[in-house]
Amino acid sequence: MIIKQRKLDGQVAIVTGASSGIGAGVAKALAAEGAIVAINYVSGPDKAEKVLDEIKQKGGDGMIVKADVSNESEVVDMFKAVHKKYGTTDILVNNAGLQQDAAFHNMTLTQWNFVLNVNLTGQFLCSREAIKEFLRRGVVPDRSKSAGKIICMSSVHEVIPWAGHANYSASKGGVMMLMKTIAQEYAPMKIRVNSIGPGAIRTPINHGAWQTPEAYNMLLKLIPAKRIGEAEDIGGAAVWLSSDDSEYVNGTTLFVDGGMLLYPGFEDNG
Ligand code: NAD
Repeated sequence: MIIKQRKLDGQVAIVTGASSGIGAGVAKALAAEGAIVAINYVSGPDKAEKVLDEIKQKGGDGMIVKADVSNESEVVDMFKAVHKKYGTTDILVNNAGLQQDAAFHNMTLTQWNFVLNVNLTGQFLCSREAIKEFLRRGVVPDRSKSAGKIICMSSVHEVIPWAGHANYSASKGGVMMLMKTIAQEYAPMKIRVNSIGPGAIRTPINHGAWQTPEAYNMLLKLIPAKRIGEAEDIGGAAVWLSSDDSEYVNGTTLFVDGGMLLYPGFEDNG
């Protein structure tokens, strides 16, 4: 009998903001393909423990690790803790993110800085530590053809403007150029950097958009596939971008959005 190896066997993944929503879904999906997963959280270790328990119940392995991704020393310490336990990092999923919505003319500098610090600076700090480790270790052919993989959680709002969310849209536009720039810079070293651009995914960040039937029906007008996405939809994309199946994919955003970017206003003849 041929035993099929899982796509990420033996690889170590750090998933930021993994105690809820998309991050939890991605952590579970990577673990199901054999990755050892470090579940980053910023508060509420109980939720992170629950994700780890679910992974362990299915035969997976991992740890929880506290860090505010916008805090340089906490990010450095997070990587140190993971490397102390597992020796290295093979995959980083820059998932942590948040919203602080306001009409632009009322947006405070505190709201602006908070979102940019977590959504963009957080991805810079985590990516920098990951790349240092990928460069130190290089390719380990038994594990992956790449020296390391980074997946940035972006959004359809890296291209779709979003009134009332200038800080969030600017952060995701920034993530797009951060991702492309470091993909270009480190491709010669066999490091791959890509983004996932989710559309509307059912998580706590956007509960107002799907909680009531009225809100859900409004949301569906924006989604040609006529359903909201689930964290598992993003998990599948993250596994593919982490695995050698996508070895020649570098510096791109994979939109997982049920067609939200297809100008749905034109679906009925415009
Ligand atoms: P979520 O609120 O469930 O998850 C966000 C996670 O980030 C939480 O676990 C939160 O604790 C964590 N986090 C926040 N600040 C942090 C910090 N400073 N340090 C570490 N962790 C921190 O929402 P989600 O929908 O799962 O969002 C995950 C990512 O997906 C975000 O980057 C978000 O912008 C992106 N996204 C979500 C959607 C969607 O429809 N849900 C669409 C596009 C993009």
